[in-house]
Amino acid sequence: MGALRETMSWATIIDGKGIAARLRGDVAEAVARLGRDHGVTPGLAVVLVGEDPASEVYVRNKDRQTRAVGMASFETKLPATTSEKGLLAVIGELNRRADVDGILVQLPLPPHIDAGRVIEAIDPAKDVDGFHPLNAGRLAIGEPSLVPCTPIGCVMLAKSVQQDLTGAEAVVIGRSNIVGKPVARLLLAENCTVTVAHSRSRDLPAIARRADLLIAAVGRPEFVRGDWIKPGAIVIDVGINRVPGEGGKNRLVGDVQFEDARHVAGAITPVPGGVGPMTIACLLRNTLTAAAARRGIALDL
Ligand code: NAP
Repeated sequence: MGALRETMSWATIIDGKGIAARLRGDVAEAVARLGRDHGVTPGLAVVLVGEDPASEVYVRNKDRQTRAVGMASFETKLPATTSEKGLLAVIGELNRRADVDGILVQLPLPPHIDAGRVIEAIDPAKDVDGFHPLNAGRLAIGEPSLVPCTPIGCVMLAKSVQQDLTGAEAVVIGRSNIVGKPVARLLLAENCTVTVAHSRSRDLPAIARRADLLIAAVGRPEFVRGDWIKPGAIVIDVGINRVPGEGGKNRLVGDVQFEDARHVAGAITPVPGGVGPMTIACLLRNTLTAAAARRGIALDL
C-alpha cells in the first residue's frame, strides 16, 4: 500500500520525445499537402561557422530531421576564420534565394563576429529562429510572428497536460532573449499571470512556490529543488547541463532536481527527452509556416 501511494503521488512524466515525433508527423503531412496543392517544397538553410563539436551535432540532426519531413535542407559550413562581412554576404545570398524559406545561423558564433548584426541581417520573413528584433517586437505586442523554437516547445508541453492555461500562475526562471523572455510573452498570450525571475530576484524559492506552471531556463545543473515546487505544479525543465557521470562519462541533467521534484510536481519534463526534442520539431514547423506565409498560402496545422 505504501509503495502504491508513493507511485500514485509521482508526477506524470511529460513525453517530449513522443510529442515532438507527433508534431514532426503533422509537419510532414502539411509539407506533402503543400507540395501536392501548390507545388512548394519548403527549404531550410543552416549556416555553421567554425567547428564546435556540439554545434556540428545539432546541425547534423537538423539536416536529418528536415529531410525526414520532406523539406529541402541546405547546409553552409564556413571556417572559423570567416569575417563578419563574409558571413553577411552569405546571409544576403540566402535572403535572395527563392528556394530558401528559413535561415538559421547556428550560435554561438566566433567572438570576432557580432551575432546581433548577423541576426538583424536575416530577412525577418525567413527568420525561423525568431530572434530578429522585428519578430521579437511583434511577439511582444501580440502580433503574428516567427517565435523562437524552444519557447513554443515549452508551451506545447505545458498544454499537453493542461490545454487551457488561463489564469495559471506561471513563473519563468531566466530572462534570456532565446528562452526566458519569449516564453513569458507566450504564456501571457495564454492568459497566465506571469512572473519572470532572474539572478537578481529576491527569495527565488518563495517565487517558484507560487507557480502552477514553473519554467526553469537557468543553465545551472539541478538548481531548482524539490521543495521549491508547489504540489501538483507543471514543471518544464529547459536546462541542458553536462555533469560528470559514472565511468568518467558525462551525463545530461536539467535545471531541476528531477528525483525530488517528481514527488511534488503534478507533471514534469525529463532531461533528456523533454524540451530538447521539441526544439527541432518547432523549427520545422516554423519553416513550414514561413514557406506558406511568404506565398500567402493559408495553412491548416
Ligand atoms: P542564459 O542566456 O545563460 O540565461 C540564463 C538565465 O538564468 C539568465 O536570465 C540569468 O539571470 C538566470 N540565472 C542565472 N543564474 C541564476 C540564479 N542563480 N538565480 C536565478 N536566475 C539565474 O541561458 P539560456 O540560453 O536562456 O538557456 C538556459 C538553459 O536552457 C541552458 O541550460 C541551455 O543549455 C538550455 N537551453 C535548452 C534548449 C533546448 O533545446 N532544450 C534551448 C536553449 C537553451 P540574469 O539575466 O540575471 O543573468
